[in-house]
Amino acid sequence: MASEIQPHPQARKPCLLNKIDAFQEVVSSAVIIPKEDGVISVSEDRTVRVWLKRDSGQYWPSVYQVLPSQCSCMSFNPETRRLSLGMDTGSICVRRPLHSEIDPSSCFCVPAAHQSRVTVVLFVLEMEWLLSTGQDKNFTWHCSESGQQLGTYHTAAWVTGLQFDVETRHAFVGDQSGQVTILKLEQDSCSLVTTFKGHTGNVTALCWDPIQRVLFSGSSDHSIIMWDIGGRKGTAIELQGHNDKVQGLCYASHTRQLISCSCDGGIVIWNMDVTRQETPEWLDSDSCQKCEQPFFWNFKQMWDSKKIGLRQHHCRKCGQAVCGKCSSKRSTIPLMGFEFEVRVCDSCHESITDEDRAPTATFHDSKHNVVYMHYEATTGNLLSSGTDKVIKIWDMNPVVS
Ligand SMILES: [Zn+2]
Ligand SMILES: [Zn+2]
Repeated sequence: MASEIQPHPQARKPCLLNKIDAFQEVVSSAVIIPKEDGVISVSEDRTVRVWLKRDSGQYWPSVYQVLPSQCSCMSFNPETRRLSLGMDTGSICVRRPLHSEIDPSSCFCVPAAHQSRVTVVLFVLEMEWLLSTGQDKNFTWHCSESGQQLGTYHTAAWVTGLQFDVETRHAFVGDQSGQVTILKLEQDSCSLVTTFKGHTGNVTALCWDPIQRVLFSGSSDHSIIMWDIGGRKGTAIELQGHNDKVQGLCYASHTRQLISCSCDGGIVIWNMDVTRQETPEWLDSDSCQKCEQPFFWNFKQMWDSKKIGLRQHHCRKCGQAVCGKCSSKRSTIPLMGFEFEVRVCDSCHESITDEDRAPTATFHDSKHNVVYMHYEATTGNLLSSGTDKVIKIWDMNPVVS
């Protein structure tokens, strides 16, 4: 009822432009090629396909290659048209799939980059580096010209998200333990800068905005955390707007929007022009900080006052420890990242105005269970791949009303 107020009238809605549904298997990874109006897809049937948009408006297969083994991840660089493929076997293959005749000099393979499945591969043109992580818990970087290994770092758990800042040569590595590690890379060595812990589930996606110097991490715990690295104050803001595992994240810098999607098909567009606040630390108390009734472990006060112990709850706005009676109301607190209703104490509930409750994100349904997403900034198009073996292409540009 409070969400009727819309202070941002430029609400954008993803508009479905195209579908590619000619797959036998789930497409595990895919990218939009901006100039050719094409899509590169890699699917579980070991194929790499290039789809080009015809005059009819439909995408048709133009290149079809069968790989020696299953591809687990990829990275496409539109400038060099270089496609880096991480394989199930631990090798990395580099090729230019748009060339009708494959030039052998532009196609090479790093046979044993990892001892098992490559989980993320990232090509960095500026450094001529090929960064990768694997199920062997190694983060490695290779020269993208010679294929020679330059360095390696052993991570605490399998890595599922990887981003790189070209300017400062920092790598952001998100893993299955929910931790994000920051490494400073040199040509052939690296040093640990710091680690961030904030998620209760695996890190499933990372996204780095080099302009604002903000890192976003998505997790299987349904949350996204925005780590303000440039601000140097250690601010971390939690964004709660998904009902399922966060599966993909991307930042549209020209519109200052974060786009996130979850397993259940939810797409959330976050307005990042809004200044959000950090959530408070939860306070510890042996009795309700409002009505002073003892909590159930406080036997002494329960005995002294002949009262029944109560269960402890926390107000999401002030962090106070309160009983159920003193926190019976729920509210969204969008400026703290809570786009869903959460528990608040009665006094905080009164202090939250309808204006405070205005959503700072919009919620959409892609109508398929998303396994992968890719956002192409120059066209403003988003690609989602689902368990239904369909690729959908969405126009994310503002709807002019
Ligand atoms: Zn109380
Ligand atoms: Zn409160």
